[in-house]
Formats: sequence, structure tokens, C-alpha cells
Amino acid sequence: MPPSIDRRTALAALAGAAGLPGAAPAQGRFRIIDPHVHVWKKDPRYPWAKETTRPPERDATPEMLLELMRANGVERTVIIQVIYYRWDNSYLAHVLRQYPQHFQGVARVNPQDPGSPGHLSRLVREQGFRGVRLSPAGDESGDWVRGPLMPPLWKRCQSLKVPMTILAPVTRMPDVARLIERHPDLTVVIDHMADSPLDQPEALEKLLALERYPKVFVKISHTWSLSKQPYPYADAQSQVRRLYDRFGPRRLMWGTDWPLVENYCGYAKALALVWDEMKFLNEEDKSWILSRTVERVWPFPKA
Ligand SMILES: [Zn+2]
Repeated sequence: MPPSIDRRTALAALAGAAGLPGAAPAQGRFRIIDPHVHVWKKDPRYPWAKETTRPPERDATPEMLLELMRANGVERTVIIQVIYYRWDNSYLAHVLRQYPQHFQGVARVNPQDPGSPGHLSRLVREQGFRGVRLSPAGDESGDWVRGPLMPPLWKRCQSLKVPMTILAPVTRMPDVARLIERHPDLTVVIDHMADSPLDQPEALEKLLALERYPKVFVKISHTWSLSKQPYPYADAQSQVRRLYDRFGPRRLMWGTDWPLVENYCGYAKALALVWDEMKFLNEEDKSWILSRTVERVWPFPKA
């Protein structure tokens, strides 16, 4: 099926349920908000980090993203600082200044630098970032997540009242839980279902266990990369279903992970997957997962 038809299908679905002109509003108007994309651009003003030995060949610019958003009825987006720049958030800060009405940004700070709480404060207070992302690896190179630099950074994030977002394999969830336990007022978002492998269904218990903390949210993205099946990824949907049964729609959010999703089903289908293919979701569930849960974590100005 060519992508243009997918987009039309998605837009027709949006018109039906989101209350666009000509449609009976089912749950009232809500804005579709994508809580997870990346942008980058080859630009000498914003050099890659020295660790980036193989930089991306193609740009992923905010203008490309805005075009996709327009074509698919996505009104707002949260941009996550991409690792190619490591802890230099200046390109994303520039994008946020350019398009403040469309985007919010989540920064990265060096988790192994004792100065990271101060860095985060400056990013939030001076540059308008709304949150930070940490990505401890599953092997020993990610053991800093158990180390002494984490509590001060998490405490700072909590006092700044911005979300902590975590990209980590599901085996790291017990380490993350210990930090969550100590910071009960901090909003924590677990990215991409912690990439919990579908062939180890018991592994998901480590993520499901975080349900007991009411300020933990989960992104149900990466169905496309976890699945061993073609779209609409029934095997990965059953994992989403387990999260839905435990957390409920008010603590789950979708996300495209653009532009990486272009290596899988593409942007339009990442939306259609939730909208049309997750048959266990009713219209109100979708309003949470596509919009209202995201706004619990990243509220956008009304108009
Ligand atoms: Zn991503």
C-alpha cells in the first residue's frame, strides 16, 4: 500500500475521532502529540560530539518533521536530544527557539559528570528544556546508574519539576526502581517499553513492577523493532496489551521515534498502528495514549 493512502486513511481516522471539521467529536477535541522524535543537522555551527565517529549521512531537520506532522495531523512534538551531540544540547535549543509553539525538548547531560545537576538546571531555566534523558547500557558500561552521581541528579530533576526519561534495557529496571523509590515526586518516563524482548515474556515483569509508582509512565513505541512479524506487529502488540492491563491508558503514551522509524514502518504507520490496529484500545484510550497522557507529562500551551 503506498504511503499516500496510509496518510489519507490516518487523516480520515483523525477526522472521525479527533473532532476535526465535519466529524462528530467522540471524546471532545484533543491534539495528537508525539512525545518522541529526534532532529539533527550537519552544520558547522553545531558540531557532532568527538565520540561520534560515524555521524548520520542524512539530516533529520525540524522542517522535515513539521511537514510530516502536518501531513499526519500531529500537532505538537517532544524532541529528545540525539546522542550524536552527546551533552551539547545547543542545536536542539536552537530548534526550540525557532519553533516554540510546536516543540518541547528533552536534554541530555553527562551522567558521569558531578556537574550534571548544575548543567540540567541551566538547560531547564535558561534554555527552556523540559526534562532529561539518561541511557544506561545493560552491561557494566552502564553501571553508573547505580553510582553516587545519580541521587543528586535525580533530586535536582525532581526539584526542577521536569520529567526524567530513561532509555535502558529491561534488565536495568530494578536499578531504576531504586532511584524512583527515593524520588516519589519525580515524573519518570520509560522509553520504548524498555525494549523488553518478546521472546522472553517474563522479562517484562521488571517493567510491569514499576506500576506501583504512580508517577511512572511508559512509551509503547518500538513495536516495529521488537516484532518478528510484519505490520501491524501482533506479537509486539501483545506486549503493549500487558502494559495496558497493568498501567492503564492514562500512564501510557505512543511515540514515533522519527526518523529511526523510517527504517521500519515509517511515521504514518506508527500513528495508524495505534489508531487503527490496536483493537483493544477504545476511543477514550486512544485520546490518552495519543494526547492526554503526553500532556500530563509535557503540557503544551493551549493554542
Ligand atoms: Zn529515539
